[in-house]
Amino acid sequence: MELTFECPRCKMIDHVHGVESAAQARCSHCQAVRDLRSEAIDDGALAGCPLCGASDVYIQKDFPQSLGLAIVCVGFAVSTVFWYYENPIPAYLVLLASALLDMILYYRVPNVAICYRCQSQFRGPGSNPDGRFGPFDLAIGERYRQERLRVEELQRRGDTVKSSPPGPSADEDGR
Ligand SMILES: [Zn+2]
Ligand SMILES: [Zn+2]
Repeated sequence: MELTFECPRCKMIDHVHGVESAAQARCSHCQAVRDLRSEAIDDGALAGCPLCGASDVYIQKDFPQSLGLAIVCVGFAVSTVFWYYENPIPAYLVLLASALLDMILYYRVPNVAICYRCQSQFRGPGSNPDGRFGPFDLAIGERYRQERLRVEELQRRGDTVKSSPPGPSADEDGR
């Protein structure tokens, strides 16, 4: 199983091959090292995110949605040319072919598992054992989005407390 992650320090994307047996994720750009939680991978099967510890992971097709849309749009554009020259049979055939191509791609392309919290991606055997993870769930996604907002808010407050001079204003929020 391969892990793709964004480095929290330099924001570059990097990979860990064979994440089942890896103890750490090292960013090859800035050398920042993060420990991987071994309990997140149970006997070669993904049980949670080894980077942030979240247990919620969703599945999506490992295929840019814009590509699927582009295939349908090109098919539509080509078919309108045939319509223009009053040639309906090839117009229908082009539409049908682009829809078929889109469908074939959809079924051939493998899945990728994505962590709700840190957006780390997992590819390969064991990334969705027994189909335990489902597609993106709005309610779960919203929970993690709220969590992210709270963390950002706390960090912002932390920064202003640190940067403001010591005085009575620093503990105005204390209750
Ligand atoms: Zn880095
Ligand atoms: Zn994560």
